[in-house]
Amino acid sequence: MSASVKLLLVVAAALVDADGRVLMAQRPEGKALAGLWEFPGGKVEPGERPEETLIRELAEELGITVKEPCLAPLTFASHAYPDFHLLMPLYICRRWEGFPQSREAQALRWVRPGALRDLPMPPADLPLIPFLIDLLGP
Ligand code: C5P
Repeated sequence: MSASVKLLLVVAAALVDADGRVLMAQRPEGKALAGLWEFPGGKVEPGERPEETLIRELAEELGITVKEPCLAPLTFASHAYPDFHLLMPLYICRRWEGFPQSREAQALRWVRPGALRDLPMPPADLPLIPFLIDLLGP
């Protein structure tokens, strides 16, 4: 990687329900990678701690509140896109307040980890699938 490559820090959450399913969100039309299914989350803004970003993004996108004690990044996705290198910690959240609802016109779907392979996903997210199958079962 050359010294001038831009590093983008995005945080993502695996929201896990009582049946071990994770919530996936479909990137809406007009965004890069539209139509692909991703873990909810977003870009870390200057001055934010990643945990604060996750709390903000989940409130904006889904209308739920996660508490910091439930948060710990258990793994990272790292992917070289043509324009930037994406580093994306994945937080595992099993508890939150509120019911996740689409706030930004994105389709939502609860998916067993073993069925994630059937969803078209951004290339950066794909290496997280085996990690989730190990953690939660297929
Ligand atoms: O969501 P946002 O468009 O702000 O994300 C910036 C970029 O990070 C996307 O264009 C995409 O290339 C990448 N990304 C990804 N997987 C995600 C979220 C974002 O590859 N789950």
